[in-house]
Amino acid sequence: MQMENSRVMRNRSKAYPRLWVYSVILTVLYISTIQAQQKETVSTHEDFKLWTWITADAKRSDASFQEEFDKYAANGIDAVLINTGTDPKLLARLVPLAKKSQLEVHAWMFTVNRPGDKIAEQHPEWYAISRDGKSTYDDPPYVEYYKWLCPTRKESKAHILSLVSGLAKVEGVTSVHLDYIRYSDIFLPIGLLPKYNLLQDIELPRYDFCYCDVCVSEFEKIHHKNPKNSENPAIDMEWKNFRLNQVKAIVDEAYVIAHTNGKQLTAAVFPYPEMADHMVRQRWDKWDVDAVLPMIYNSFYNEEIDWIGYATGQGVSDLKGKNVVLHTGIYVPGMSAEDVSTAIQLAKKNGAKGVSFFDGPAITEGQWEVIKGFTR
Ligand SMILES: [Zn+2]
Repeated sequence: MQMENSRVMRNRSKAYPRLWVYSVILTVLYISTIQAQQKETVSTHEDFKLWTWITADAKRSDASFQEEFDKYAANGIDAVLINTGTDPKLLARLVPLAKKSQLEVHAWMFTVNRPGDKIAEQHPEWYAISRDGKSTYDDPPYVEYYKWLCPTRKESKAHILSLVSGLAKVEGVTSVHLDYIRYSDIFLPIGLLPKYNLLQDIELPRYDFCYCDVCVSEFEKIHHKNPKNSENPAIDMEWKNFRLNQVKAIVDEAYVIAHTNGKQLTAAVFPYPEMADHMVRQRWDKWDVDAVLPMIYNSFYNEEIDWIGYATGQGVSDLKGKNVVLHTGIYVPGMSAEDVSTAIQLAKKNGAKGVSFFDGPAITEGQWEVIKGFTR
């Protein structure tokens, strides 16, 4: 009996640890199953988000905005990027309406290009100066709304950051979304050149910024040379890098402001970093930012739909190891519904975490069908 007991005890003592291990494994499996279920039910769209850019007119009624937001939500949109002309009051009015439609809200702002900015307009010296000495204040390049500020001057930079802060303080906003966070285009997208009857095979002085006294003297302090004296500033890497860093400095400070206010920082950028660097002096893979939405607008560059996959993949690869997600921007005008479907699939296949459509009101019924039917 005693022997029997001791054998039972021994067997039990062997069995107990095994049971303990099994119960731990079962518990872990159970918890992870619950977590997986929760993840799916709580936020089905976390893995692939659909956004759209929209511009808000303060004169419109709440009911009209609500109708627009409801339409987006009913068609599968998760987030709206709202351009309020950098007006925190209008944004605060729209956030509850968008939230009612279950939409995430992002405060889209014109950053370095500030058309119609009443405060900036009181300071003509804040505006960027071209290599041929023209100010965007009274002689803008390409189009009337190109009112680029100097990104280096303490006062113009502080003004831009105060606008970021105003939007970041609005309750319920998920991110401040920087657009035109770059220099004016030194090269326009090739598809747009005929419209302006332009040939841009070299960096032309008319479109090369900023050669104001502050930019030149700040550059001279570091590099002991004056870019105005350069025979070919396009091949002066210090001058190029200085300008990339002026843009980065604004972004990095905006990031701190957004995060201090419990918000994220996102940005609309050029298709992929080298292209952004080449065309508008923007190197977004080096920024402090939470998410980038490259405007991979194939028609602007005379590219086919498959290029959307290429540019998306390039950006995703350049962000590897960084805590930045990429959502592909798609320009819907001129696209067939099938094109839109292909573009979404290509973005997803190449590592984007979502797509954003430009812009909401331009999306056709046929395109909505495709967007609504998209399975994530
Ligand atoms: Zn300047």
